[in-house]
Amino acid sequence: MSDLFAGVRWIWMNGKLVEFEKATVHVMSHALHYGSGVFEGIRCYNTRRGPAVFRLTEHMRRLELSAKIYRMDLPMPAPGMAEAVLETIRANGFESCYIRPLVYRGFGTMGVNPLRSPVESVIAVWSWGKYLGDSDEGVDVCVSSWRRPPSDALPAVAKATGNYLNSSLIKMEAITNGYVEGIALDTNGNVSEGSGENLFLVRDGLLVTPPLASSLLHGITRSTVMTLARDAGIEVREEAISRGQLYTCDELFLTGTAAEITPVRSVDRQPVGSGCPGTITSIILREFNRVINGETEDRHGWLTPVGGLAGSGVDSGAAEDRMSA
Ligand code: PMP
Repeated sequence: MSDLFAGVRWIWMNGKLVEFEKATVHVMSHALHYGSGVFEGIRCYNTRRGPAVFRLTEHMRRLELSAKIYRMDLPMPAPGMAEAVLETIRANGFESCYIRPLVYRGFGTMGVNPLRSPVESVIAVWSWGKYLGDSDEGVDVCVSSWRRPPSDALPAVAKATGNYLNSSLIKMEAITNGYVEGIALDTNGNVSEGSGENLFLVRDGLLVTPPLASSLLHGITRSTVMTLARDAGIEVREEAISRGQLYTCDELFLTGTAAEITPVRSVDRQPVGSGCPGTITSIILREFNRVINGETEDRHGWLTPVGGLAGSGVDSGAAEDRMSA
């Protein structure tokens, strides 16, 4: 087992906390054969005011909408799922962690039609550092030879497990060729997003990001960055970005829950702008860090306190009580 899960004791599974080793699925589960699942990636930060989950409501709403596209009902309404997230963090005693809710079609019957397989759900948490490495000085990326599927083939607004086969191809190609990440174009040849991140560039003091029509996930960090930029008086535009602009922009950065805000220092070995991170990227980074560290007032209501943390971990008796409840 990967070290990543050292210290993880409990996984929330279909309404109950289950011991990590016992949180298993049947090999004939529909999701394993046909990619029928939707999920979220969320972070909990140890802010100055205590552990808090970042934009939990928006993540639960996106999960609900992803599930809707694939005709699945969440096991309970979004607020209940949000409460289950908090319970899972508390049970494992984390002060900061990554959170993975997953809703999928389980073991029922075979065949593409998912509707006859039960909807199951899990919430896992683990400690996860910077996804694209210790990258304050920027990462080296390439333009992928793989395109993002058009939204009339696979809806990008749904954060569905099956979509990540495309992301895996982009990521494997990038890593094999010595890059940290790959940026995919959409089927019209416009810039879409990274394998697991949205993208922003700076051009003449303007912050530009591709529109949802460019086959990208409606990223929550993307919306955070747009709000923080506007709060700081920086103009933000959603407009189609051509591949050439990746090489001519002044600044470039990637955003995502796992990647947070990661400056890009080169694209296809061409340096971005004149030094990384650039001025506007640094402002956004600073503002973002202030929010997640709880250094500024939470003026947009983005932080949900975890509450009830019993210091270094819940006692197993309490968790067992919950399991048998
Ligand atoms: N695009 C893709 C394909 C992703 O997997 C992610 C990560 N969830 C993002 C964008 C960024 O989304 P968010 O900021 O909501 O994490």
